[in-house]
Amino acid sequence: MTTIEFEAIPAVQARQRTPGLVVMKFGGTSVGDTDKLKRVAERLVEARESGAKVVAVLSAMGKTTDELIRLAFEVSPSPNPREYDMLVSTGERISNALCAMAIHDLGHEAVSLTGSQAGIVTDGSHTKAKIVEVRATRIHEALEQDKIVLVAGFQGVSTDTQDVTTLGRGGSDTTAVALAAALGADACEIFTDVAGVFTADPRLVPGAFKLPYITYEEMLEMASSGAGVMMARSIEIARSYGVKLRVRSTFVDGEGTWIGEEDKAMLEKAIISGVTHDTSEAKVSIVGVPDRPGIAAKVFRALADAGVNIDMIVQNVSQDGAATISFTLPKTDVSIATPILEALSVELGASRVEHDPNVAKISLIGAGMKSHPGVAADMFDALAEAGINIEIISTSAIRVSCVISAAHVERAVEVVHARFQSFAEERVNG
Ligand code: ADP
Ligand code: ASP
Ligand code: MG
Repeated sequence: MTTIEFEAIPAVQARQRTPGLVVMKFGGTSVGDTDKLKRVAERLVEARESGAKVVAVLSAMGKTTDELIRLAFEVSPSPNPREYDMLVSTGERISNALCAMAIHDLGHEAVSLTGSQAGIVTDGSHTKAKIVEVRATRIHEALEQDKIVLVAGFQGVSTDTQDVTTLGRGGSDTTAVALAAALGADACEIFTDVAGVFTADPRLVPGAFKLPYITYEEMLEMASSGAGVMMARSIEIARSYGVKLRVRSTFVDGEGTWIGEEDKAMLEKAIISGVTHDTSEAKVSIVGVPDRPGIAAKVFRALADAGVNIDMIVQNVSQDGAATISFTLPKTDVSIATPILEALSVELGASRVEHDPNVAKISLIGAGMKSHPGVAADMFDALAEAGINIEIISTSAIRVSCVISAAHVERAVEVVHARFQSFAEERVNG
């Protein structure tokens, strides 16, 4: 069996194992120039010589993807999605082919494959495709021939159209985890430019701690709320298929951070896994809408039908029968949402639609908060003491998020992290 259908197989045990196989993913900074690519080649060869079967997934070199996107927008204000994917998928072909050459020069056999050649089958939604199946025949054949297999990350092929698709920014993480699931790898190792998953972005909070371990649920919430270290979709796949995941540094040896199932004993002591921030969303308010049943349904149905993803929503107490509905949405969706909301505002007799792009979301995440009252109150206290106003609040069982002014994001992360520092230390030191 060399095929795994992600939608069809509900449980981990359904997959075929390949003992001794490791999937190693290297991000853009890790393959930023040809010297770094040669070092990655050496690392892959070392793993092979130590007896492992090796499948590598490399991102595009450095800022290549940003540069390709810039070119696309230089040519067209709204690039054709099929051609956009044809273009941006090329970055990963370059890095993987170069690395395969370097491996040959080290005296080992290697083969680089595009997403399509590697059997990464996706749905047809260009620029944000989902992997639906991995047809791994070619990878298995190459492994049996003793080759190191390099797969271009971030891309696949649509079964409907046979066209190249891409998986969204950061999508090489998803390629790596999907391959580890499909091939039944022993582990999936994500090599990047930091030593692991930290209690806050280490570039923003120098005092953040590296976590030795984090649960799938916590990592999913952290990734979904702005921790760019892993793509959220990759964590969903890892959780569904029980893939053992480790994030570690390309440049410095170390244990990194393991991502896996919940460990009850650990969570009782360590309530918080981290603080994240996200400045990719905007806030929109419809001011003065009539306060009667059916209005919210009408607004959010219209936005959903246009494919706009809404995140946090708040409706204030009505005054004189009129209310204000505020919500956040990706900045990239504002141009789709605005004409819809303007039309609805007229239809519903609202006063006006307001936009605020200068907002940020700050979130506190921890599986232990389920059984530990007072966490949200402590977070609000920390923000209040710093004089930071909260505009919208939302929660899940293991997350509290606040929308604040973007001008205060760094300070907010700092003060909330400081408030929960002792919990974070417990997670690290046990
Ligand atoms: P790669 O190119 O290797 O995929 P990314 O830039 O996608 O690397 O992810 C690594 C970056 O994620 C780090 O440089 C760091 O600034 C950022 N980051 C944000 N939040 C966190 C966090 N909680 N822990 C670790 N890194 C984080
Ligand atoms: N190169 C792609 C990007 O920059 C995919 C990735 O690096 O994971 O988003
Ligand atoms: Mg990344």
